[in-house]
Amino acid sequence: MGSTDNFAFLLPAIMLVFGCTFLLLRRQGLREAGYWAAAYFLGVAAFSMPLLSGLFSPSILSPVADALFVSAFYFYSGALLFRFGRPGLVGGRLAFCGLSIVATSYSALVAENLPAELVINDLSCAALLTFAVAMSATHTRHVTDRLLLIIAALIVLDTVGRNVMLVFVVPSYGVSAEGFLSSNYDFMMQASASILSLLFGLAALGAAALDMITRYRDVADHDPLTGLLNRRGFDRTVAGRAGGAMGSVIICDIDAFKRVNDTLGHAAGDLVIRGLAGLLAAQLPKGAFAARFGGEEFVAFLPDITLAQAGAFANTIRLAFAAIDRSALGVDQAITASFGAAEHRPSDRSLHEQIGRADIALYAAKQAGRNRVMLEGEPPRDMPAIRIASVA
Ligand code: GH3
Ligand code: MG
Ligand code: MG
Repeated sequence: MGSTDNFAFLLPAIMLVFGCTFLLLRRQGLREAGYWAAAYFLGVAAFSMPLLSGLFSPSILSPVADALFVSAFYFYSGALLFRFGRPGLVGGRLAFCGLSIVATSYSALVAENLPAELVINDLSCAALLTFAVAMSATHTRHVTDRLLLIIAALIVLDTVGRNVMLVFVVPSYGVSAEGFLSSNYDFMMQASASILSLLFGLAALGAAALDMITRYRDVADHDPLTGLLNRRGFDRTVAGRAGGAMGSVIICDIDAFKRVNDTLGHAAGDLVIRGLAGLLAAQLPKGAFAARFGGEEFVAFLPDITLAQAGAFANTIRLAFAAIDRSALGVDQAITASFGAAEHRPSDRSLHEQIGRADIALYAAKQAGRNRVMLEGEPPRDMPAIRIASVA
């Protein structure tokens, strides 16, 4: 039994490490990790039952291990269902586990039929996992997700295959419990379960880690007040764009915002900022993106758009912003914003040169009396309405 003992030791050790790692991830706020941790700890407990063989008889330990296994698979399936946002069917799965535990306990304690006990236990675990895989298969988002489901499916195949062998192929069908536990069957079970359990844990950990990284990266790239990109997210989005910096930039700044804060309070000021952000987010053309660069200052990049088109777009936002009904805030006069726009030049070494020119145009808009759109360069004759735009 030498090699079997090695596996008997190795598997709970691997699972314990996974259980602890997932517990740490759960503490970091990853809810899915709680299911994985529970599954792995229950697995550790189940595989550790033989260690208690000096204290209890196998006829007691075996049905307890069965119950722990099926509970572990309840949580494995729960982890997958939760991960992929599928209905948990908690009641149904719990009832199924209860039935399985009754059946394995009966087989072990009353019928004393070890093969029946093992088959019922294995197939119950496989059924729980099959259910989760089937429910989740069409809801994967990335390669790691698919890898996770493939390994889960392999665990199901391994389990079902082993039981088919047990019932139809293994000639020792019906031997005593002692004979069974020292058989090749047990060795194979431990070996394949160890490898698949390791792979399953790694894939789950990889997928969860990827989610955490994506989540924190998302947080790092976005402004919590408006949900728009922040400066870092803007730079990253620009860098990741295939089309480069061809297009126009609009920069805007709310007018006399210090006074808004002073008269209405900071919270109302935040609402005003959100109002402009909401307009930008809702009206940006496809492929464009906007960021909150500072307090009440926003930058939008509009790819493949001319300066005149950018000016027209900015003017639409300007009018819509001034027209927002702010009577609920106790404001009777319009709160306005000024806009500057610039377009790409072949000599630009980075988008920030273009943003710098838009900023100069914005400054000119402020100087000229605010609540208007200014375009970089010479006043274009074909757009007088935009250059002289003002509150009606
Ligand atoms: P101007 O028309 O020249 O733009 O005048 P202004 O008063 O808007 O001047 P400025 O742009 O310098 O003022 C920005 C103000 O925005 C100062 C700061 O107190 C306020 N602010 C910055 N961040 C926030 C924020 O997150 N929430 C709120 N409510 N206010 C902010
Ligand atoms: Mg301002
Ligand atoms: Mg400002």
